[in-house]
Amino acid sequence: MSAPVVYDIAMEVPFRGLTRRSGILFEGPAGWAEWSPFPEYGDEEAATWLTAALEAAAHGYPDRVRDRVEVNGIVPALDPEAAAARAVASGCQTIKIKVAGPGSGLDDDVARVAAVRAALPDARLRVDANGEWSLDQARIAVDELAPFGLEYVEQPCATVEDLARLRALDKGVPVAADESIRRAGDPMRVKQAGAADIAVLKVQPLGGVRACLRLAEELAMPVVVSSAVETSVGLAAGVALAGALPDLPYACGLETQRLLSADVTRAPLAPHDGWLPVTPVEVDADLLEASRATGDVVDFWLARWERVRHILQGQR
Ligand SMILES: [Mg+2]
Repeated sequence: MSAPVVYDIAMEVPFRGLTRRSGILFEGPAGWAEWSPFPEYGDEEAATWLTAALEAAAHGYPDRVRDRVEVNGIVPALDPEAAAARAVASGCQTIKIKVAGPGSGLDDDVARVAAVRAALPDARLRVDANGEWSLDQARIAVDELAPFGLEYVEQPCATVEDLARLRALDKGVPVAADESIRRAGDPMRVKQAGAADIAVLKVQPLGGVRACLRLAEELAMPVVVSSAVETSVGLAAGVALAGALPDLPYACGLETQRLLSADVTRAPLAPHDGWLPVTPVEVDADLLEASRATGDVVDFWLARWERVRHILQGQR
């Protein structure tokens, strides 16, 4: 395996409060892999992310059953005009709109969704609340947003119990679980509690493409593959999962390459007309060099890399 390369790339658009994205890229016998747990995550959680990267570098990805995957455009918590412009510019036929963000009340959310709907009358729209609504707020919000035609509401409430309660109210809008799957000790609780119609799966936090394929089978519900905002190397793992799932009824949340201001490949995984090819990513040596981190960022990642590798060695 190659020595780890620490990358550090400015975000085109701030995301999760981050203005830069950093992580480690390394090459194994099967190709390049990315390890980029968010900085605030503890080492135990980061170890699951490293399992995913090590598997990709050592074994590559399972056979694909499709050669392209549809993706959703992303609309952050912008004002209505900017939200509509961004939705149209994505070129995607499915749009995910952030709601319930800091400083975004229900009136703002309704105005944003209405503007996107007006701009794209035929698009499929989904909203993501990142667990920010209480059960009561979610109930009211779904009633107000449903008339715009939603394919689903993602993580409306924080807990599995509240997702199940909202779903039991039968609002006519399917419920998708994201954080309740990837940050829960036991992702199967979502199924056992009847808390979701759809599961959002992310490769790094769930320990790899093969682990996600097994989980999708156990969950026995439709899956939407999403990214953790990675370079094209990390995104390729999500695309590989989307390419290998037996069924893929929904567009995936893999339109995140454009959130970064640079990439490490000459053929970035950015969609055309809302679709991404299921292809391996070739790392370009010059672009990798140009994205190479310096100073404290390198120290942070290499120390983290050593600690987390140690944890994984202890688990074997
Ligand atoms: Mg989400």
